Amino acid sequence: MRNVVIIGSGCAGNTAAIYAARANLNPLVVEGLEAGGQLSLTTMVENFPGFPDGILGPELVANTKKQAQRFGAEYRAGEVTAADLSTRPFRLTIDNAETVETRTLIVASGASARWLGLESEQKLIGHGVSSCATCDGFFFRGRPVMVVGGGDSAMEESTFLTKFASEVTISHRRDQFRASKIMLDRARGNEKIKWLTSTAVEEVHDVDKNEVTGVRLRDLKTGRQWDHPVDGLFLAIGHLPNTGIFRGQIDLDPEGYIISQGGARTNLPGVFHAGDVQDRHYRQAVTAAGMGCMAAIEAERFLETEP
Ligand code: NAP
Repeated sequence: MRNVVIIGSGCAGNTAAIYAARANLNPLVVEGLEAGGQLSLTTMVENFPGFPDGILGPELVANTKKQAQRFGAEYRAGEVTAADLSTRPFRLTIDNAETVETRTLIVASGASARWLGLESEQKLIGHGVSSCATCDGFFFRGRPVMVVGGGDSAMEESTFLTKFASEVTISHRRDQFRASKIMLDRARGNEKIKWLTSTAVEEVHDVDKNEVTGVRLRDLKTGRQWDHPVDGLFLAIGHLPNTGIFRGQIDLDPEGYIISQGGARTNLPGVFHAGDVQDRHYRQAVTAAGMGCMAAIEAERFLETEP
């Protein structure tokens, strides 16, 4: 029986682990499929307080894990594949095999990249289709790529990709951009970036060759279709919260984000939230860390009143 199980090992989960460990709660952190969370997919983080010269995302996340382990947090590789929150203690299943019981639960399972959902796209993930320019941009040196999306991520990833690619085409479904002005202006000022608006990707070629050779596009205003040759396709169309196992058990909004009851509380006593699994607005490393701290303090207080 655990006092606290933390699902997720990004900034939110690791910070919760530091606080819970320092409160002598001996937390168990189940790291999840994307261990380290989104920070482990970034390069330099320049806005996390305390690092005047910036710090690499993977280094920041490794440091917070080490810090939590120093105070006794236990880390377990694997994924929580089922959760029974109907009675306390809560029961969690890890990797469809092991069962763990816990008095409190901190859900810091984050959000994962959203995909278009095309069959050809899914088949070519890792073969030219990617959701992480930082991870895969290097493979496209001197080659043309496409980025899908109209938000800050699309602008950031496109600008980053111009370091490698011969040409970056941004394809966006509307002619208005959601991206902030500064990010949009930076991308607009980059002559390697070309723009296609009111356009949708309908198919990714070529599944038979097991590599990306181009995309089938549709002009959403005229309906015209055409093929556009690219060697890589990067999706930057937002994220989906990792809450599938909690559906019907904790209150979620229509998109699956946890609905907060204030502080780090979910509607279920003893279950707390931290980071992007609940926060659709700020989504910053520092806000996730702050929520991780809040969740651990709430769990500690909960255990004091309802041991
Ligand atoms: P976002 O702001 O939600 O933008 C997602 C984009 O993808 C939108 O342009 C959306 O189109 C498009 N999209 C969504 N679903 C689609 C689909 N099925 N097919 C085609 N296009 C689709 O997501 P984000 O860019 O990842 O940003 C998330 C948050 O992180 C934002 O708050 C952002 O400011 C922040 N962020 C900040 C930085 C930075 O400051 N350095 C960098 C990255 C992200 P519509 O516009 O038509 O809805």
